[in-house]
Amino acid sequence: MIIGVPKEIKNHEYRVGMTPASVRELIGHGHSVFVEHNAGMGIGFTDEDYQAVGASVLATAAEVFAKADMIVKVKEPQAVERAMLRDGQILFTYLHLAPDPEQTADLIKSKAVCIAYETVTDNKGGLPLLAPMSEVAGRMSIQAGARALEKSCAGRGMLLGGVPGVAPAKVVVIGGGMVGANAAQMAVGLGADVTVLDRNVDVLRRINAQFNGAVKAIYSTAEALEQEVLAADLVIGGVLVPGAAAPKLVTRDHIKRMKPGSAIVDVAIDQGGCVETSKPTTHADPTYIVDDVVHYCVANMPGAVPRTSTFALNNATLPFIIRLANKGYKQALQDDKHLLAGLNVYRGLVTNESVAEALNLAY
Ligand code: NAD
Repeated sequence: MIIGVPKEIKNHEYRVGMTPASVRELIGHGHSVFVEHNAGMGIGFTDEDYQAVGASVLATAAEVFAKADMIVKVKEPQAVERAMLRDGQILFTYLHLAPDPEQTADLIKSKAVCIAYETVTDNKGGLPLLAPMSEVAGRMSIQAGARALEKSCAGRGMLLGGVPGVAPAKVVVIGGGMVGANAAQMAVGLGADVTVLDRNVDVLRRINAQFNGAVKAIYSTAEALEQEVLAADLVIGGVLVPGAAAPKLVTRDHIKRMKPGSAIVDVAIDQGGCVETSKPTTHADPTYIVDDVVHYCVANMPGAVPRTSTFALNNATLPFIIRLANKGYKQALQDDKHLLAGLNVYRGLVTNESVAEALNLAY
């Protein structure tokens, strides 16, 4: 199969669909890979790096789209890219179609086979191509929170781990899933005093076992949450109710009563945020203050570390890319119900129930 990797064109997107190492694997399986000039430049992969593993570099996205049987990307295709898709061509990338009627209409029109990373499933009921970005955001949340606690950011002027003779900061993580467990791991590593709150007892058991008791795992009643949040120096919001907006667990009243200079990193901001006073911010201006509490609410945290994020994403996508290339989309989708769950638009038809429902389209 011929696989095409265009350069991402969405504003401030530096990730790339395939690393040179992934390209090498595909070529090892007997496929050809065409990469757009400078596709990996933003994260330090040169055209020569791709050529060294056997890829061909093409000058423009138009040439890549024209040659490829399958396009592998990161972000949803922008309008100019959608116009280059064709009947039967495979598109494998994040799509997030439910809130995006324009993109959906263009993908229907293209008659391409559009498989979305975010709806591919696994045997444990998880979303394996979303998980790596939650790992990145969870780990990053502690870096962001540590910075927010510094005096120059209007924080309390505390070091997360303290020093010998000085108590560490108290970090409260709401939600012990992928984001929360990764945040807890980083916070414990820095020597903070860490508590995780969750509503799922199995999650609390897992946290307890993972950290051998070094992290307090507490059932998240309204009372426990209030107690912990009011005592916290840093709160990490990492809850998810699948398919719904995040519940507002930290209220405006809590914010008023939190310690002046404490900080909140609301990772769940991409689902509306779990803090009543959260509003989305950008990497250019990530924080703002409400009632002396520093808020960090960047909706695309992995975008700040595109090199790590690209490797993490490739580790998860590569097995699926190889299967699609080796078997062709018909066989690959037939053989794997989890990859099939990723199919959102198939040659002019919407094939994802939530997308069809959200946009009032036939399914
Ligand atoms: P996850 O499903 O792995 O974990 C969510 C956890 O929240 C679960 O353990 C669940 O039991 C818990 N939960 C649900 N309701 C709760 C409640 N009322 N009280 C306490 N716990 C509750 O999800 P995840 O992958 O960790 O993602 C968490 C959030 O982070 C999602 O909204 C996701 O979209 C977001 N996210 C944001 C970014 C970003 O850049 N801002 C990046 C990645 C993920």
